[in-house]
Amino acid sequence: MKKAYNFAAGPCVLPQPAIDAAIEALKDFEGTGIPVVSISHRSKEWTAVMDEARNLWKEILNIPDNYEVLFLGGGASLQFLCVAMNFLEKKAAYLETGVWAKKAIKEAKGLGEAYALASSADKTFCYIPKNYVIPTDIDYFHITTNNTIYGTEIREDIDSPVPLIADMSSDILSRPVDVSKYALIYGGVQKNVGPAGLAFAIVNKDALGKVSRYIPTILDYKTHIDGESMFNTPPVFSIYVMKETLKWLKNMGGLEAIHKLNVAKAEKLYAEIDRNTLFRGTAAKEDRSIMNVCFVMAEGKESLQDEFMKLATERGMVGIKGHRSVGGFRASIYNACPIEAIDALISCMQEFESLNK
Ligand SMILES: *Cc1c(COP(=O)(O)O)cnc(C)c1O
Repeated sequence: MKKAYNFAAGPCVLPQPAIDAAIEALKDFEGTGIPVVSISHRSKEWTAVMDEARNLWKEILNIPDNYEVLFLGGGASLQFLCVAMNFLEKKAAYLETGVWAKKAIKEAKGLGEAYALASSADKTFCYIPKNYVIPTDIDYFHITTNNTIYGTEIREDIDSPVPLIADMSSDILSRPVDVSKYALIYGGVQKNVGPAGLAFAIVNKDALGKVSRYIPTILDYKTHIDGESMFNTPPVFSIYVMKETLKWLKNMGGLEAIHKLNVAKAEKLYAEIDRNTLFRGTAAKEDRSIMNVCFVMAEGKESLQDEFMKLATERGMVGIKGHRSVGGFRASIYNACPIEAIDALISCMQEFESLNK
């Protein structure tokens, strides 16, 4: 098979043991003689997978008892609407740190007053706004912890006087998180936890039931708590691969261990970006993401962009083109991205520097 170093932003690299297990399950799911994609979601073999997946989330992320973990269709984008449906009575504030945050605000605006408390739009979202005070007269404060497109990240659990809601699509399970600080954590799984087609929601059950509107059944978190994430037919294959990815993460030593590795990987790559005379990072240094590393050609070297892309492609790099809205390059180095991939990218950057002396 062709050797590829996959830096795609999502769908993205997943652990090989999870892929191997998925291949086996496609042939024969748990000795049933049935492929996992054909198994009844009401069978005991399948409900055991649901239980195991839920329990792995709870164990790995140390989720308190009054929270529930939900697996939902529709990706993170549907959650933008669900958040407002379930939590917005009158007014909510958002931290506008990028396009995803803007999309979340847009959905909430349809249901009440939703506004950007602070924004980094003035500098193409290359930093995280800091000097803001969270008001106390709002239903919730919403943040996007990792801004996949711009490579900025809020890496600490902030204190909020009102319910805190976080889109953690692209840094969930990359570091320990104090779940008790959040009313809701949600995201698409396809950045760090599994294949596309699935979203997760970790919801504080005590924070629900505070809005007066009618919530359509399928958008109501209570429906999915009561239905144990099987109110309707769940995407069995995505859930299966997610469960195997969680098993891999647990075997790796959990969040403390993976966080250490993630920091080491990111620091190594940023160090090369800072050292190499042909490149520069685009995110504010104090806000740099350990998941998405964004960089461009150094000033005066812009014309070399296509040439570097060509060399990188020849050397096996895949998915390093920056998001179409910002250009340049982006290396997404999620949990399952091996250090060898980062070493290969660094060698390629060094080779390019020596070719352009
Ligand atoms: C990818 C992404 C989304 C959108 O996820 P979908 O599952 O495609 O809807 C939302 N928020 C963030 C931070 C993302 O990275």
